[in-house]
Amino acid sequence: MVKIIFLGPPGSGKGTLAKKLSEEQGFWHISAGDLLREEVFKKTSLAEKINEYLKKGALVPDEIVVLVIKNKILASAAANFVLDGFPRSLSQEKALEKMFRAINSQIDGVVYFQVSEDEAVARLSGRLNCPKCGAVYHAVNKPPQKDKICDVCGSELFVREDDQPVTIKNRYEVYQKQTKPLVEYFSKKKLLSVLTATGTIEQVYQNLSGILNKISR
Ligand code: AMP
Repeated sequence: MVKIIFLGPPGSGKGTLAKKLSEEQGFWHISAGDLLREEVFKKTSLAEKINEYLKKGALVPDEIVVLVIKNKILASAAANFVLDGFPRSLSQEKALEKMFRAINSQIDGVVYFQVSEDEAVARLSGRLNCPKCGAVYHAVNKPPQKDKICDVCGSELFVREDDQPVTIKNRYEVYQKQTKPLVEYFSKKKLLSVLTATGTIEQVYQNLSGILNKISR
């Protein structure tokens, strides 16, 4: 079983590539952001608290994220999976290591999505999402065929509240301060592979497949 982490700034394409990997190679895609947004959408008891942080582009407190993601990770012992957006800090990495010990498993590799800040911000700025099937578009790079309508299911597309310019800036700063130290951490553990995450989705996917072959050997 191959267990990998996708690490990189917001807008680096982690979610898009994880989705593709799940569709084409059957990997479980565990996205911390999606799980948190689902709590808000379903108006669970955690929804209000989570939304406070999502709106600002700040990290949701560890105890909540861990609660939301833990069962998925524990249930994934026998699966190939990609963790997208978790861990986002050293303390979350420690919590993850503990979960893995509980299922007698471990991470096989970490893929670091490398893009410039300008590129990442430009990608987030034009992003359009489908509320029903989760398809993601971009106003310039991947526009839907009909304005603001999902090609896949016909629903009306929306812009995530945290994809507004001020929040994007904040998310990027949070990444630099809290998540980027993980690059060095995983590099020291000899788990890190650097993926050049610019170019078309197909090009990036091809590079990613090369890295995955090495990790799973
Ligand atoms: P994403 O969908 O990965 O861009 O994440 C969207 C937002 O969800 C982030 O800006 C955070 O507010 C929250 N979030 C996602 N993953 C985590 C995490 N591991 N820890 C704390 N907050 C998170």
